[in-house]
Amino acid sequence: MLKITLLDGYVDEPTCLGVPPYISPYPRYIAGAIWSFNKNIQITYVTIDQIRNNNKLLEDLAKSDIVIVIAGMSVPGRYLSGYPVSPNEITIILERVPNILKILTGPSARHGFGMSGGKKTRFVENVFDLIIKGDGETVLFDFLKNKQDINEVNPDKTRENAETIRDFAIKGSNIVTQHPNHPNYLIAEIETYRGCPRSIVGGCSFCSEPSKGLPDYRPIRDIIDEIQALYQNGVRHFRLGNQPCIFSYMAKDAGKTEFPRPNPEALEKLFKGIRTVAPELKTLHIDNANPGTIARYPTECKKIAKTIVNYHTPGDIAAMGVESTDPVVIKENNLKAQPDEIMSAIKLLNQVGSRRGDNGMPHLLPGLNFVFGLKGETKDTFKLNYEFLKNILDENLLLRRINLRQVIPIPGTKMYEMGTKITNKNKSEFKRFKRKIREEIQRPMLQKILPMGTILKQAYTEKHDGKLTFARQIGTYPLLVGIPGVFELEEFMDVKIVDYGYRSITAIPFPLDINKAQRETIEAIPGLGKKRTIRILANRPFRNKNQLRSALDDPEIIDDILEHITF
Ligand code: SF4
Repeated sequence: MLKITLLDGYVDEPTCLGVPPYISPYPRYIAGAIWSFNKNIQITYVTIDQIRNNNKLLEDLAKSDIVIVIAGMSVPGRYLSGYPVSPNEITIILERVPNILKILTGPSARHGFGMSGGKKTRFVENVFDLIIKGDGETVLFDFLKNKQDINEVNPDKTRENAETIRDFAIKGSNIVTQHPNHPNYLIAEIETYRGCPRSIVGGCSFCSEPSKGLPDYRPIRDIIDEIQALYQNGVRHFRLGNQPCIFSYMAKDAGKTEFPRPNPEALEKLFKGIRTVAPELKTLHIDNANPGTIARYPTECKKIAKTIVNYHTPGDIAAMGVESTDPVVIKENNLKAQPDEIMSAIKLLNQVGSRRGDNGMPHLLPGLNFVFGLKGETKDTFKLNYEFLKNILDENLLLRRINLRQVIPIPGTKMYEMGTKITNKNKSEFKRFKRKIREEIQRPMLQKILPMGTILKQAYTEKHDGKLTFARQIGTYPLLVGIPGVFELEEFMDVKIVDYGYRSITAIPFPLDINKAQRETIEAIPGLGKKRTIRILANRPFRNKNQLRSALDDPEIIDDILEHITF
């Protein structure tokens, strides 16, 4: 029987994430297409990180008949664990398995491999026998039907419509059980539709989404059934992230207007249905939102935001593509919203979503994505963007995330012709701007969102860096938590915030047993420093408050310390 390996080199697109802990729809749909053709075909799913960490997996890969590589980063991201495969890396890996058929699919097949912001993408052609620029699952189904003859398939073929992937999505859901993060730390990225309504006016200059045409909505039932199948396969974390704007799902009049009227009833049905089939889910988050839509239809969007808050889990972010607040850049690049519209969308989301949820995070806050290196950008652009953000801070509005990135000129977009000319010209301005935003906006914003002493529930420990452990809650764009001390990895713990970085926080385990805590952790308790920590370590164990008080040089600080510890 045929043996196929799915090598997940990870995808990161404007409307889809597949870098761990996320698994994108790509491998799931492809597995579903293969098993729809023949359920006995043996599929091995392996991530690029598993290959990086275990050479023996290359020997297993060599025993496959076919390897299908899924890869492509078309927006630059920051990753904690898991990094998308590079063109050089995939070439070296595949050269070591010469005798199997090699297929490439995903954004890298369509647009080339993105390396980082401000750089053009790179195509890798020589190592692959078949490069699928169309839809992987559709082309691969044809390929299997045609007795695996690569000359008999059209690699550019795309799905007829969203309904045709229903069975693939359901049948392929079992592949998640092979993901190394399964089941506890795995988020399934869910597609609700693809294509952008703004494609009728050409779309934003840098974005590849308009090339997918007008929105093709997946039926509500199909999405719910897919989530049910994933849930039955152990997935407990979901993000409705694979669409340009969740508020525009099933919007009416797409094709007639670039901002179709949102459909609150459809969103209510969708979210309610998800909760019915996945009653014990632990995460239900969203991703992209178009501020132009929210500003134009405040009544409908308020209803939708309320629905989201009603059914989702807290810590959610509506990531809005702002790109720039400079009117010249907005015009030159056909961007979706003016500054006053962006502001009204921010206000609406704050009104509905800023309440704190039971995991310690506010329910639903806006995130803003900025893109630099666009046509028309000047020094004034940086100034205007700064003033816009400062205004948000001064008005006491909350932003959960500010994402500053440089454009990747993608073939087929208007920005491709422009290349990296403006990015290169404004390189040092961009660096200065980033620093300024970190110091003057992001840090104070974090302090507002998560006041000192806030308890964050269920942070998952992922990585050590010297005597520091990094953890994150599961969810959309999770906040990085640095925990002083070396803690067991791959475990959940509640933590209490004690300090702030620019885009991260420092926290200590909560509750913290002072008699067992590590030196670095005790030192991080507000009010204690090196010297007091040494006194505490020298006088442990303590049975009660009085014993601890007598070990301190200043007994007055005892109550502050007691807020963080137990005996
Ligand atoms: S609104 Fe602009 S950035 Fe968003 S999907 Fe459409 S073209 Fe892309």
